[in-house]
Amino acid sequence: MPHTIISKRAPIYADVPDEKWNDWRWQLSHRLNTVEDIEKVLNLTESERKALQTQGLFRVDVTPYFISLIDPEDPNDPVRKQIIPVSEEMNAFTSMMEDSLAEDRHSPVPGLVHRYPDRVLMLVTTQCASYCRYCTRSRIVGDPGQTFNRQDFEMQIEYLKRTPQVRDVLLSGGDPLVLAPKILEELLTLARDPHIEIVRIGSRVPVFMPMRITQELCDMLAKFHPLWLNIHVNHPNEISRNLPKPATA
Ligand code: SF4
Repeated sequence: MPHTIISKRAPIYADVPDEKWNDWRWQLSHRLNTVEDIEKVLNLTESERKALQTQGLFRVDVTPYFISLIDPEDPNDPVRKQIIPVSEEMNAFTSMMEDSLAEDRHSPVPGLVHRYPDRVLMLVTTQCASYCRYCTRSRIVGDPGQTFNRQDFEMQIEYLKRTPQVRDVLLSGGDPLVLAPKILEELLTLARDPHIEIVRIGSRVPVFMPMRITQELCDMLAKFHPLWLNIHVNHPNEISRNLPKPATA
C-alpha cells in the first residue's frame, strides 16, 4: 500500500478529504477572514477579536493549512503573530508611513519599481495566499480595487525592452504564484528579453500553501531555467513537515 502523506490540520479540518486538503484551489477558496471562522480554530484574545471586527484594517486572510500550524491556546505563537491582527494596529503612530520603501516614487510605469540601475521589481498582482501583518506593501496588497491588468503588464514589459541596463527582474506583488498558471507563464515568457540575465519570483506561497507547488507548476517553471524562487520564512514553525497518515487496520 502506498505511504500516504498528510500535513498537520486543526481539528475542524479532520474530515476534509485528502484530495481537497491537498488542492491549492480548495485552500484558497476556504481561507478564513472573519472572527466567527477564525475562532473555530483559535482561542482568540480580546485584542484579536476587536481587530478582526474592525473595518478598514489591512486585509486578513489565512489558508486552512497555515492556520493549522498555530498553537490555538498561545497568543504569542510566532505564526499567529504574523497573520492575526491585534487591536494595536488600529492606533496611528508618528513614524507611520504608507509607502515606507518609497516604491511609488521610483515607479516609472504602474507596478514597476526601478530603484537600482540594473534591477527592477515587477508587481504583477496585489493578491497573496494569506496576508502578513507586517507587509510593507499593505497600501495596495489585498485590495481588490488595486489590481494590475494586461495593459499594465504590457507597459512594464515595454519599459524593460527600452531599458537595456536592467539585467535582473524580480516578479513580486502580492504573490506571483497565486496568479492563474497561464498568466504567470505568459509573464515569464515576456520577461525573458535578451538583456535580462536573472528572473526571480518572490513568494510566500510555499509557506502559506505548499500544495501549490505541483509537478505541473514545476514543469512550467523549469522551461524558464535559470529562474530563482525567493522564499520568505520568518520562523521554523512555518516550515512544516509532512506527517505520516495513521495506519489503518
Ligand atoms: S506575502 Fe508578501 S506581499 Fe503578501 S502580505 Fe505577506 S509580505 Fe506582503
